[in-house]
Amino acid sequence: MITLALSKGRIFDETLPLLKAAGIEVLDDPEKTRKLILATNQPEVRVVLVRATDVPTYVQYGGADLGITGLDTLIEHGSDGLYQPLDLQIAKCRVSVAVREGYDYAAAVRQGARLRVATKYVAIAREFFAAKGVHVDLIKLYGSMELAPLTGLADAIVDLVSTGNTLKANHLVEVERIMDISSRLVVNQAALKLKREPIRRIIDAFGQALGQP
Ligand code: AMP
Repeated sequence: MITLALSKGRIFDETLPLLKAAGIEVLDDPEKTRKLILATNQPEVRVVLVRATDVPTYVQYGGADLGITGLDTLIEHGSDGLYQPLDLQIAKCRVSVAVREGYDYAAAVRQGARLRVATKYVAIAREFFAAKGVHVDLIKLYGSMELAPLTGLADAIVDLVSTGNTLKANHLVEVERIMDISSRLVVNQAALKLKREPIRRIIDAFGQALGQP
């Protein structure tokens, strides 16, 4: 049995065409079923639905052989024991710094102010501000980061931005782009040795669907 860990929503939807290219069709719609283990048209392949931030953990400890997860999640989690054969070029976005409209971020940085930064992406933010030589107090949040500058909890946030509409709707502006993000295929290294053939077949089919040799 080959187990693929996916999260519901964008990653699941954008993975379906890649699975199709590998001849795999998921038999249930995750938005309509409460099942967490989904069968496919291939009796030897199943999909497990997990939270996006849990995908690396499932694959690392062998709860799944393969998984698809954003680079942001991979960096925050760490990628020990994970083989990363492919950038799937899906669920693309960027990690950026944003502040309230009217907040003079450039001046605060120039003056060496100690910034309060709220984020779910603590590792990415720490590394980014350390490299810039900016002192920050990081405040870990689990969601609705946009609220932090509006309520006075923080001066800035580090969050994922795609169209920029969420920032705009909350009167926030993007002031720095930290990195581009896309989803990656991750594979359990032991599974790659023990189930080499079927896993290779999936990696190769995904690679071909992406136009990679
Ligand atoms: P947008 O309004 O299009 O800029 O999207 C921003 C919101 O969607 C933020 O709350 C992000 O956390 C979330 N978001 C954007 N792109 C992604 C992605 N690729 N994966 C997960 N969340 C995302």
